[in-house]
Amino acid sequence: MNLFRTIKLTASSLVFPLYCPACGKIWYNGTGWICPNCWDTLSPPGRGTWYHIRSLKGKVLVAFQYSEITRNLVHYLKFYGRVDIASESGKWAVGRLKDELSGIHLKGIVPVPLHPVRVRERGYDQNLIIAHSVADQLELPVFDNIIKRIRNTPPQSRLSDNERRRNISDAFAPEKESISLKQGTLLLVDDVIHTGATVLGCIKAIRKAGFRDVMVLAVFG
Ligand SMILES: [Zn+2]
Repeated sequence: MNLFRTIKLTASSLVFPLYCPACGKIWYNGTGWICPNCWDTLSPPGRGTWYHIRSLKGKVLVAFQYSEITRNLVHYLKFYGRVDIASESGKWAVGRLKDELSGIHLKGIVPVPLHPVRVRERGYDQNLIIAHSVADQLELPVFDNIIKRIRNTPPQSRLSDNERRRNISDAFAPEKESISLKQGTLLLVDDVIHTGATVLGCIKAIRKAGFRDVMVLAVFG
C-alpha cells in the first residue's frame, strides 16, 4: 500500500505540480511532505518536558521543535502512510545535529521499538525507517535486536504526563544478550520526544542488555 502510494504520488507529481503545504510554493517532488527550504528553516527545539529529567541531562539531542508544521508531519507520518517523511526526517535531523553528533564516538543506532501489533496495523515501523536513514548518514549499523517492546501501550498523545510515565516505564525489555560492542555509545532514535518516559524505558532495557552509554536522538521535541 505504501509503495503503491509512493509510486502514485511520484507519478502524479510529474503531471500535476504539488505545493509545499508549509510555504505554499510549488514543490514538484513532494518527498518528505514539506519542501527542502521548509525542512531547513524548521525551528530548533525548545526545552520540552524531557529537559527537566535529571538522568537525561546531556544525553538527548533534538533536531526540530514540535510546532504546528511538525505536528502535521508526525501526523502524516504515523497515520497517512507517508513513510517518505521518516527517511527525510532522519536525513534532515542528522544535518541539523551534525556538530553535536561529530563529538560522540558512536557504535550504532537503536530504534525505539514499536509493538509488533502497532507495526502490523500501520504497515511499517517509522522509527526503524528513521533509524536506517540516520545510520546511512552516519555510516553506522542499525541494531534493532537489542531491545523489544513487550507491551502495546495506548498512543501517548491520549495520556497525561503521569499516565505516560506509568504506561511506558516497563514497556521495553532487552531482547538478547547481544553483540560484542558493549564498550561503545549507542544512539537511540525516536520520532518524537515529549515527557522522556519512552526513552527512559528504552535506556533501562538497553542497560539491562549490558550497554552502558546511550545517547538519544529525537527528530521532534
Ligand atoms: Zn516549503
